[in-house]
Amino acid sequence: MTVETNPLLTPSALPYALPDYGRIRAEHYLPAFRQGFEEQLAEIRRITMARSMPTFENTMEPLERSGELLQRVSHAFYTVSSADATAEIQAIDEELAPLMAAHQDAILLNAALYWRISQLQAQQDDLPLDPEQHRLIERWHREMTLAGAALDDEAKARLTELNQRLSALSATFEKNLLADTNELAVVFDDAAELDGLSSGELSAAARAAADRGLEGGYLITLPLFTGHPVLAVLTNRESRRRIMEASRSRGARGGSHDNRAVLTEIVALRAQRAALLGYPTHAAAVTADETAGTPQAVERMLRDLAAPAARNAAAERAALQQLIDDTEAEPFPLEAHDWAFYTEKLRAARYDLDTAALRAWFEAERVLQDGVFAAAGRLYGLSFAERRDLPVYHPGARVFEVFQEDGSPLGLYVLDLYTRDSKRGGAWMNEIVSQSALRGTLPVVANNLNVARPADGEPTLLTLDEVNTLFHEFGHALHGLFSDVTYPHFAGTNVFRDFVEFPSQVNEMWMLWPEIVSAYARHHETGEPLPDDVIARLQATETFNQGFATSEYLAAAWLDQALHSLAAGETVDDVAAFEAAALAAIGLDDPAVPTRYSSAYFAHIFSGGYSAGYYSYIWSEVLDADTVEWFRENGGLTRANGERFRRRLLGVGGSRDPLEAYRDFRGRDAEIGPLLTRRGLDR
Ligand SMILES: [Zn+2]
Repeated sequence: MTVETNPLLTPSALPYALPDYGRIRAEHYLPAFRQGFEEQLAEIRRITMARSMPTFENTMEPLERSGELLQRVSHAFYTVSSADATAEIQAIDEELAPLMAAHQDAILLNAALYWRISQLQAQQDDLPLDPEQHRLIERWHREMTLAGAALDDEAKARLTELNQRLSALSATFEKNLLADTNELAVVFDDAAELDGLSSGELSAAARAAADRGLEGGYLITLPLFTGHPVLAVLTNRESRRRIMEASRSRGARGGSHDNRAVLTEIVALRAQRAALLGYPTHAAAVTADETAGTPQAVERMLRDLAAPAARNAAAERAALQQLIDDTEAEPFPLEAHDWAFYTEKLRAARYDLDTAALRAWFEAERVLQDGVFAAAGRLYGLSFAERRDLPVYHPGARVFEVFQEDGSPLGLYVLDLYTRDSKRGGAWMNEIVSQSALRGTLPVVANNLNVARPADGEPTLLTLDEVNTLFHEFGHALHGLFSDVTYPHFAGTNVFRDFVEFPSQVNEMWMLWPEIVSAYARHHETGEPLPDDVIARLQATETFNQGFATSEYLAAAWLDQALHSLAAGETVDDVAAFEAAALAAIGLDDPAVPTRYSSAYFAHIFSGGYSAGYYSYIWSEVLDADTVEWFRENGGLTRANGERFRRRLLGVGGSRDPLEAYRDFRGRDAEIGPLLTRRGLDR
């Protein structure tokens, strides 16, 4: 395939170098990847063959410039493989996974390159470099060392073998999960079984069934996590049970999509790889290069939080049981699939709040424009203009051009809101083009959510959770958009994993901020604002049900640590028994409070790059809660506050030590108190 026929082989001529998805076809990807691998390896060879002694200019700079084609193709492809993985794209993904791992190894384990960077690392103090350049040498040196660059050839060969097998297993895990999630979508024949859904939700379920070619009937598709938003409203207990059971059986019911053997092989191989690198466990190898530092630090934090979380969950459980005993004609013991339903009843009784009814005030376009975008306008001076003229990978994705306060262009923002069978579960941000002054690129970032598409002619009404998710993901988008670094290595969200959730969590604070919520939360039919007292009650419920929410999260985080605390040679023989023992060990084994993810559908840690790192969310929430307090103390939603946050934290990407950047922004280290208060765990 030539440059003329494969649009991926030349830089895109579209604004912001947006990939020309209108011309890219599936068969273009693999040849472009292969050429991208070759080009980068040739570029690296030119660096290592140089006869002159290593300098920043003859080593680091060409290294950062290398792989331009490969990154262009990768960004274009992985955007599509997560958001619109047709069978063809999935097949490419599987073929690609081991090639990609091999290519990574060819660079990170390159002895000549490692020698040159080690020389620079040793001379750091004498080199006339700026702080970002110093950090670039340090990070490359550290990352190569952790990847095994200092090992002998035999160990390196074994490492490469392990990495390739692991990446293939991850691709299999993801494919199995997507297939099982689609297959296990629950079919209901009778609308009465779905009593509690709004007419809009019911027609969306009917449409989902029709899309699958089912005549009549209603289809409830499954989100990634254990629970389901509809469990909060379905009055039919049997329907709730069916949905919960389907969700929890994913990847663990035998047959061709079973993930149990896949994941036990993954954890065993990761333990072997850690040993090869000189670490006792995979968790130790991972946390060595995070802000946490060690698995012990992670364990300490999880244990500190688990006891109060379990205690609060037990109190919540008792209150729910009381409600069942008081209101049901034939009371029954509360089970996992009942929790959300009675929680909403209790919330309604205690706070006079019906969260399902709130959706009428959360029309998606209004939430986006007058909420998410408006907050970014007030804080950072940004403005947004939709670009319908630019092609994207799917008609459901929209493109917005983002401008700074002075009118200069900042980048592009892509929003892909709706769920479809070809999209993986959950919500995320990804970079389509990374910002770099060295390469002269501006950022193009995308947010994906999995909101159910409404029936034709109906508005998209978001749940409270979905509104929160949109603010959250947009926080990641801002992190990518504000990137102001020289070297692509440090662009945007290329920071430590236990730091990466921090900017997105902070952005959630504007969702219920008075000036913002009063602008976007308008009834979709009458235009009435959401009454102030409802907003006040929503704020008052922030600690409500946090025993449950914290427990289900901590259970998953603990499970992740446990699965990755195996020594080389140790294996998990029975996944269910292993999970039960691990959760009992930390006191998070209430059957009514299941873990947010069971191993067989825990995509974050088996196909999503969060292995031994799911703890990161609460680790960075410590910084988040502390930052929210800072904003409140300093006048909240102001340009000055936004500017400080942008310049000292968001914009530096990975070019500074994150905790140092935090200190610079906050004036001190983060404290855990605000997090405990926020979740009601201080009582
Ligand atoms: Zn996030």
